[in-house]
Amino acid sequence: MRFDILTIFPELLTSPLQEGIIRRAIRDEKIEVAIHNIRDFAIDKQAMTDDRPFGGGEGMVMKPEPIAAALDQVEEEAGAGRVVFLSPQGRTLTQTKAVELAAVDHLVLVCGRYEGVDERVVSLYGGEEISIGDYILTGGELAAMVLIDVVTRLQPGVLGCADSAERDTFSRGILKHPQYTRPRVFRGLEVPEELLSGDHGAVKDWRLAAAVGQTLAKRPELLARVNFSAAEKKVLVKAGLWAAIERIVDATM
Ligand code: SAM
Repeated sequence: MRFDILTIFPELLTSPLQEGIIRRAIRDEKIEVAIHNIRDFAIDKQAMTDDRPFGGGEGMVMKPEPIAAALDQVEEEAGAGRVVFLSPQGRTLTQTKAVELAAVDHLVLVCGRYEGVDERVVSLYGGEEISIGDYILTGGELAAMVLIDVVTRLQPGVLGCADSAERDTFSRGILKHPQYTRPRVFRGLEVPEELLSGDHGAVKDWRLAAAVGQTLAKRPELLARVNFSAAEKKVLVKAGLWAAIERIVDATM
C-alpha cells in the first residue's frame, strides 16, 4: 500500500515513520510512504502557500494552486490515488473506516494548516474529508500519522501475530479483555485464576466475560449493536452479564 502525504511541515512526519511497526512495515515493503512539501509547488517567489480569506476575518487559508499542483504531480508519478483531506469537519476515523481504507492501494493525504484549505481544491479532488475526533489540531500532520498507523497495522503481515488485529478492541464491536503478565502477584493483586488454569476453554470463556465486563463498565453503548452466538450467550448468562446486555439493547430500541 502506498501513502503520499502533502504537508508544509515534512519534518513533523519523519520521526514517527522511523520507529517500531511502521518502520518495519516500510522496510519490509508492506507500505511505502512519500512525503511532499507543498511549498515546493508554490507559484510565487516567496513560496507562499497561504493567503488572507476572502470576506475578511482572522487567520490565513491555504492557497489552492500549490496543493493542486502537488496532487497532480503525485498522480503523474504514482497514478491516481484516493485523495483524503484531513479535517475536523470530516467523517470520524473509526476502526470500521480504517478497515475500509486498508483495502485501498494508494492513499493521498492532504494536511491542512491555519484556517484550513481553500474549499475549491477539496471539491475538485473528490471532497473526501476525514477527522480523527471532535477537537481542533494545529495541523493535519498528526491526524495523517494516526490514519497511517491504524491502516498500516491492518495490512497483511504487518503485525507479528497474524490474527492479533482481529482480536483488538472494536474489531467485533466490544472492548478487549484485560491483559496480565508476570509476576502472578503484584502488590497483593493476583492474576485471575482462570488464566493460570491451562484450560483453554476456561480461558476463552473468562476472556469473553471479561471483555463484556470491560465494555459494560467503560463503553456500555457499544453492546447495543453486538451479536452474540448461542454459545457466547450461555457463557454470559453464567457470568451474570446477560441481563445487563438486554437492558442496553432494550433501551436503544
Ligand atoms: N478553521 C478550521 C475549522 O474551524 O474547521 C480548523 C483548521 S485547523 C486549525 C488546521 C488544520 O488542522 C485543518 O485544516 C486540518 O487539516 C487539521 N485538523 C485539525 N483538527 C483536525 C481533526 N480533528 N482531524 C483531522 N484534521 C484536523
